[in-house]
Amino acid sequence: MTGVLPPGSVIGILGSGQLGRMLAVSAAELGFRVHVFGDTSGPAFDVAASTTVGPYEDLGAITAFAETVDVVTYEFENVPLGAAAAAAAVRPVRPGARALEVAQDRLVEKRFLSDIGLPVAPFANVDNLNDLEDALATLGTPAILKTCRFGYDGKGQVRITSAEESDWALDAIGRAPAVLEGVVPFDCEISVLCVRGIDGRTAVYDVPLNSHKHGILDTSTVPAPVPAEVCEKARAMAARVAEALDYVGLLAVEMFYLGKDKPEPLIINEIAPRVHNSGHWTLDACGVSQFENHIRAVAGWPLGSVARHSDAVMTNLIGADVEQWAELAAEPQACLHIYGKNEARPGRKMGHVTRLSTLSGK
Ligand code: AMP
Repeated sequence: MTGVLPPGSVIGILGSGQLGRMLAVSAAELGFRVHVFGDTSGPAFDVAASTTVGPYEDLGAITAFAETVDVVTYEFENVPLGAAAAAAAVRPVRPGARALEVAQDRLVEKRFLSDIGLPVAPFANVDNLNDLEDALATLGTPAILKTCRFGYDGKGQVRITSAEESDWALDAIGRAPAVLEGVVPFDCEISVLCVRGIDGRTAVYDVPLNSHKHGILDTSTVPAPVPAEVCEKARAMAARVAEALDYVGLLAVEMFYLGKDKPEPLIINEIAPRVHNSGHWTLDACGVSQFENHIRAVAGWPLGSVARHSDAVMTNLIGADVEQWAELAAEPQACLHIYGKNEARPGRKMGHVTRLSTLSGK
């Protein structure tokens, strides 16, 4: 088994948030030590063997960090490409830079997905008012204007209902390079969590249904109320993305489900080259969680079973929701996870709770 890191090796994680924290806990369970590099101290620092605070742009600090670890991974997709390259000059970075390049820019992402034959919403590149007017003439309204970079949780995007709103819409996204997307008439939103090992084998979890509140993920429910053959198709599409990126680790692919009888029942919205909020239920409802499987993959280990032993509803605890911790802790079927953040600001992900029930099917 070449490239396999034995227990005792050090996993380097770029990013100090809750995803890094859950990755670090899973790594520790397999006997690894973890070094977290964050631009601020965060929830992952509480559970890591070593920590470094520094800007991701400080390539000297990134190189020094990489020299202390055996493999570098990350918990967020906006790792600067320069930092990934500096780390990769010293140690393997998994997933690799191509996944970051694609996921950091919606235009690159949509072109990549289209090029490998996967369905995306109709889209056009928008750099100025002319482009937007042309794009609206082609795609029609309503449409959604999204910045190419740094959008998340519904930020960096506006819905346009008529061509007169063009100027306002460009202002609203700060006149940044953007894509215009046609509005997809979806039934529901799902995501696929796919893990790929260094030997190219993939394993894909059952598909959750995702619902959002104020642009932030609220619940993930598994199994999704979507026909089994559609779920199979979604899983195959995600595995195709992972293969095309020569991906190592856990990849999340967000999709719209439009209805069984539609010519194209599934459309990919975006990919996240990292563990994902819509996969948190795997901690409690599966033999091996998305976090452990990511660590297994980046360490060159065989992947663990993605089989699900329970149905599950994961609910995010946003802001003051976390104050219900005592009631949640007393609920028999509720698995509570609190991220240890010191201040419960509105909109901030403070923890999550997964409620388990008897396995009903896929
Ligand atoms: P995003 O930042 O791309 O994940 O978009 C945030 C949310 O906006 C998604 O979860 C959808 O609910 C909605 N959305 C984004 N793009 C589209 C689209 N092309 N058609 C319909 N709804 C969309």
